[in-house]
Order: sequence, then structure tokens, then C-alpha cells
Amino acid sequence: MLTNDELAKWDRESFMHPSTHLAQHARGEAPGKIIKTAEGCFITDRDGNRMLDAFAGLYCVNIGYGRQEVAEAIADQARELAYYHAYVGHGTEASVTLAHMVMERAPDHMSKVYFGLGGSDANETNIKLVWYYNNIRGLPQKKKIISRWRGYHGSGLMSGSLTGLTLFHQKFDLPLDTVLHTTSPYYYRRDDLSLSEEQFTAKCAADLEEMIEREGADTIAAFIAEPMLGTGGIVPPPAGYWQAIEPILRKHDILLIADEVVTGFGRLGSMFGSPHYGITPDIMTIAKGLTSAYAPLSGSILSDKVWKVLEQGTDENGPIGHGWTYSAHPIGAAAGVANLKLVDSLNLVQNAAEVGPYLTAQMAEAIGEHANVGEVRGEGMLTAVELVKDRDSRTFFDAADKITPQVVAAMGRRGVVARAMPQGDIIGYAPPLCLSREEADTVVQATADAIKEVLG
Ligand code: PMP
Repeated sequence: MLTNDELAKWDRESFMHPSTHLAQHARGEAPGKIIKTAEGCFITDRDGNRMLDAFAGLYCVNIGYGRQEVAEAIADQARELAYYHAYVGHGTEASVTLAHMVMERAPDHMSKVYFGLGGSDANETNIKLVWYYNNIRGLPQKKKIISRWRGYHGSGLMSGSLTGLTLFHQKFDLPLDTVLHTTSPYYYRRDDLSLSEEQFTAKCAADLEEMIEREGADTIAAFIAEPMLGTGGIVPPPAGYWQAIEPILRKHDILLIADEVVTGFGRLGSMFGSPHYGITPDIMTIAKGLTSAYAPLSGSILSDKVWKVLEQGTDENGPIGHGWTYSAHPIGAAAGVANLKLVDSLNLVQNAAEVGPYLTAQMAEAIGEHANVGEVRGEGMLTAVELVKDRDSRTFFDAADKITPQVVAAMGRRGVVARAMPQGDIIGYAPPLCLSREEADTVVQATADAIKEVLG
């Protein structure tokens, strides 16, 4: 077996990591963990250190690690048929079965699912389909897409443009100029602290409508949003937000794309985030929880309204010119089928609805009064702790002080993995949906102790 030093050398010499300080990593100043095995909510590194993974990888291992049913489904599929494509109407038993299972779970007005590989490519697909949709409808000017500051939709050319975090734009010449960003529904960080939640919602809606009127509704194709902000800070929407936003989109003939990459398949304690917040999207993006990351697979779920226009388009123009070699990959599909069966048989949506709020409540109880805790918030199995220099003025810590990375590192020394969210001092928690109350207590205790160690 390779020694840790040998592996670290190969890593520095050969491996360009995503979302990483490349220079520090290559100099060996910022080595990441090399994980070896995992079971349930726990991961174990090469040195045998066992840690509770309170971020489920990148909020994707929803069923927990080490589920043999999924491993066996993948192995069986690989032995029987590792690959066949889905072009020109072809498929596999696994891909057709998974499509059926996804549509059984999707809201009633949805019609079909197109499978991709990850959330970013699914959102690239979505925007291409929206453009195609408006071209077929004879509305070639209606192409701009509105997303929100602090939204996260991936890091491709279009999906990275949709993402509303400047870290993902700067030096990449993004966003593309067909993308506009509107107000982030981030109540805690609103510009005018005197606004009530309802007033802030009204402001978000007014800002959106103003943007639509300024640009011209006939130039705007779609609005894309996560039902609840994820990577931008784990922020539940302010009261009445979706009820205020959706009618504006309908009034202006603007499609609603719900990016359910994080919220899909149970994370909010409901099967999907859209019905959870009472919205009826035209397109839904799914990924992570579709396979619990046992294999890469994503999807674009299309409403009947969109689907009918796509059908018309192919009757007029021939086959749709869009597809990846690995669309509906049978190994991903087999993982998805086995995964969704486990989500049901283990009652994981229900567990997320119960243990998630318990985690958030216990966290608030343990650290909510700390002088540097600005807010503890969450929904379902998603929790965030926002740290501030001063509670009353909500001042940010100096980014150079790296307060949140320090707290997260201190948690790591206590055997719990959380995530320092990009942009701001926010600790994120998105454990596997099978988290137990005892495991939630461990996460809270590690957080409280780590905050005490770093901030007193
Ligand atoms: N949309 C959302 C809401 C996400 O959270 C993510 C990933 N965190 C993506 C899209 C992009 O998915 P991927 O990283 O699989 O491309």
C-alpha cells in the first residue's frame, strides 16, 4: 500500500482539485483529507480517524454511506450491462425504471425527465430547452434568465453565470450577458434592518418586477431559483416569498425553474422543495439525492406545458440536437433505483422532517446566545450558524481572519465535519437524512465546543 507521503506527493504533482487554492495545495500548505471508508453518517480517513460527516459529502449522500443494496445494484448493472446509450429512443431497464420512479414522485403537472450527469450540466440543459421553447413559440427575443444573488446553480458557462456568488464569476468573464441577478431573499442580511419579514418579501417581489419591466418582459424567458438558498448560505425564504414571486412570473409569461439539486428527494422533510413551498415550477433540476451520489446522475424534470412545445419543435425540425454520451447512464440509473427504494423503505423523508428541526433547535439552544452567533437557522435537514463580529450591528469578521474555517477545523478535531460556506462566516450542516438524534447531539456539542475554543 502507498504511504501517506507517497500519496500526498502524487496528489500535489498530478491532481488539479475543484474549488481549491491551487497554489497552496501544490505547495503542500493546504492538504485535504484523503477518505478511505465510510458507513452510515461516518467517514474514516487513511489514518483511521472516524468523523461524523454533517455535510453528507457535498449535501449529497442522503441515504448515508455504505449501503450494500446500492453497491450491489451498481455491481449487478456493471456485470450485466455497463453501458448503452439513450440516443434515438434507446435505453436500459434501469434508465426507464428510474424515469418512471422519478415521475411517480414528481408533482402531478410534471411530464418527463431528461437525465444528465450533475447539477451544472442539468442547468445547462434547462436553459437550452427554455431557449428552444421560446424559439418554437415564435418568441426569439425572449431569452434572458433571471437568477438571484447568492443562488447556486453550478459552475459551467451558463450555470456558473446563473450562480450569484462573485467567487464563481471573477476572472472567468462571467456572468454571460443574458443572465441578470435580482435581490437575494436573505432576511438576516437585508440592507434595511427596519423591514419586517413581510416587508422584505414585498421588496424582493418589487425588485423582481422592476427588473422585468426595465428589461421588458418580452426579453425574459425564465427565473431560476433554489426553493431554499443552499450554497449561498442555507437561508429559508422570508415569509410569503414564493407566494409573492410566482404570480409575477406567471403574469409576465416567464418560466419558473426550481433548482432542486439540494432540496430534491427529502432534504427539506418533503419529497421536493417546490410543493413544500407551494410552487408549481415549469422545470425542476435534480441531482445529488437522486442517487445519493453513489454514482453521478442528474435530471431535468419538465412540465407538460414545456414538454408539449418540445414535441412540436421536433415535429417541425427533426430530432432535438441535445444529448450527452452518458445521459441516463445505466450505472447511475441502477444506483438511482436502489437509492429511491431506500429513501422510502427507511422513511428518510420523515426522518429529515423530525431530526432536522431537532438539530436546528438544539443548536439554537446551545449557542444561540453566544456574542458571536448572529443567527441559527434551518429547514428540514439543513442548518446554518452565521457568525458575526458584533451581534447588534451584524458586522462581518475580517475575511483574512478566516474565523469560520478555524471553527470548522476545531470541529474536525472533535470528529465532526461541517462546511465553511463560501462568502461570509456561515457554518453549514446538511447531514445524511438518516441522522439520529444522538448524532445530532454530537454535532451540536462539537459546534459549541469549537466556537468556545476559537471565539471564547
Ligand atoms: N444547483 C444547486 C442548487 C447546487 O447546490 C449544485 C451543487 N452544489 C448545483 C446546482 C451544481 O451541481 P454539480 O456540482 O453536480 O454540477
